[in-house]
Amino acid sequence: MMQMTRYCPTCNRSSNDVKFIGEFCEVCVADKIMKTLRDYAVVESCKSCKRIRTSEGYMPVSKNSLKDAIRHSLGTKCNISVISFDESSAAVRFSCQEEMGMVEFEKKIRIETKRTMCMDCYRRTSGYYEAVVQLRGDNGKADMIMKKLINFIEVRGAFVSRIDELSNGYNIYISDKKITASFFQLNKLKPKRSFTLYGVKRGNKVYRNAYLLRFDQS
Ligand SMILES: [Zn+2]
Ligand SMILES: [Zn+2]
Repeated sequence: MMQMTRYCPTCNRSSNDVKFIGEFCEVCVADKIMKTLRDYAVVESCKSCKRIRTSEGYMPVSKNSLKDAIRHSLGTKCNISVISFDESSAAVRFSCQEEMGMVEFEKKIRIETKRTMCMDCYRRTSGYYEAVVQLRGDNGKADMIMKKLINFIEVRGAFVSRIDELSNGYNIYISDKKITASFFQLNKLKPKRSFTLYGVKRGNKVYRNAYLLRFDQS
């Protein structure tokens, strides 16, 4: 049976030329959704590390992180993907599930960058630390452990906020005490630990950990 040709009540396009979604052609349905969308997205960008804010925290700029930030800023229920982008705009593909079917279209979204500072950079610049590693004794061994330790914590996303060089070793100030503790565990090192109270966060006492490792002179 031949299907009867239909015409869109808005633009008069024929169903021989375009897909229909309910009463209207998909071009008009897409137009209607597009008119409800803002043509710009506000993206928060850390002025120090240049990462952008997503629902999973600050991430390096990529199609994926930008997609998350744009979708959040637009507040759209459509699924989106970023086809391409530069500093001031992104070509975005929208896939919107309407009652009568799926509507897809592309739209250029202007990007308004809001400069912020992420918590990591804030902590870095303010000298934040949770753990102090005190290495004492044999310089060669202390140097070796320090290199290993710094590499270990940096690949895990923590940072060194300060290093004091002393006549008999080093004090290394580290942003994350859990990562610091796991370094000793994984390397089967047994430092002498001590704790100092440095504040109260949401009713809980917060401690800074100090780890003292002594190396014998060889
Ligand atoms: Zn139409
Ligand atoms: Zn940052």
